[in-house]
Amino acid sequence: MGNFRYITNRTLADKKGNEDSGRVRMMVRNGSDIAEGDYLCPECHHTGKIHQLFKRPIIVKCGKCGYSMRLPRLKGKAK
Ligand SMILES: [Zn+2]
Repeated sequence: MGNFRYITNRTLADKKGNEDSGRVRMMVRNGSDIAEGDYLCPECHHTGKIHQLFKRPIIVKCGKCGYSMRLPRLKGKAK
């Protein structure tokens, strides 16, 4: 462990509010600004690879339908 400065594994709701319709797994290596991982789009259920610049807010765009998957910060999440 300790090879990554950021790791997340989220489930995402679709626009209708159905929980766990999609998923994003992402990690950033130490000393890198590139986020790598994969996703399952909550809207069209397309799966794809993530390879993009790591910046906040974190938004992963579906390569098929163009849906933007936002990953809010977990800290302070009240629900
Ligand atoms: Zn999609």
